[in-house]
Amino acid sequence: MKDAVTIVTGGSMGIGQAIAEFLAEKGGNIAIFDIIEGNHVVEKIKEKGVDARFYNVDVSDYKMVEGAIDDVVKTFGRLNNLVNNAGITVDKLLLRMKEDDWDRVIKVNLKSVFNCTRAAIRHMLKTGGCIVNISSIAGVMGNAGQANYAASKAGIIGFTKSIAREYGERGIRANAIAPGFIKTRMTDTLDEKTKEEMLRAIPLKRFGEPKDVAHVVYFLLSEYGSYITGEVINVNGGLYM
Ligand code: NAP
Repeated sequence: MKDAVTIVTGGSMGIGQAIAEFLAEKGGNIAIFDIIEGNHVVEKIKEKGVDARFYNVDVSDYKMVEGAIDDVVKTFGRLNNLVNNAGITVDKLLLRMKEDDWDRVIKVNLKSVFNCTRAAIRHMLKTGGCIVNISSIAGVMGNAGQANYAASKAGIIGFTKSIAREYGERGIRANAIAPGFIKTRMTDTLDEKTKEEMLRAIPLKRFGEPKDVAHVVYFLLSEYGSYITGEVINVNGGLYM
């Protein structure tokens, strides 16, 4: 990780922020792509003695992503890793789900992964690289009220495995992580009854912390994960196994 350059999408808060900060703690340089201000994370990261920069990027916009990734390579001199983490939920039962609810979630959660990976991989072809995509337990087992979200997260898994097969011989690895219930703004909005039910179903009897995901991202990006590609790692306290 030392001196590596990693793009973390959705790195201004939640799981993405934890990933950015943990990789920086391990000596990595970080570029944060987010639609909300991320300079507070950049300042914290720079205190660790590494380089960091915030890019105001909507990851669902291909042109914007391509321009920002070219700028990362120009500014930092290289690109080693990409963590596709940005994501949203628009939860509704299917019969209440509007076409726009479907399109928005697919565009932000899935098309963004195509956008960032396609634009980044051009720079990794000669040097090799590593990609970690944040999927979800919903993409693995489905979830009522999340047909759009689950489809986007299942799509990420198929995409990840295809990229692993296409670019393995170029020294590029691609893996996915499927987190369970992690304590962030995304899960804050769930009502207490749902949270209690979920807690009862989790064998480890606690919700995940953003750092639980960050540690696995580090493992996959580091030399410890160097023989792992096309894999999906559940980080869910045993909620699904
Ligand atoms: P979060 O706290 O809502 O953070 C997501 C970040 O991504 C926010 O800063 C968000 O900005 C940003 N973002 C949204 N749309 C974007 C876009 N078009 N371009 C760039 N940035 C964008 O979410 P989180 O809980 O940390 O989740 C991170 C990832 O983990 C997501 O992919 C999520 O699906 C996945 N995940 C989370 C859980 C969980 O329990 N929390 C479980 C499984 C998987 P805004 O504030 O403007 O939206």
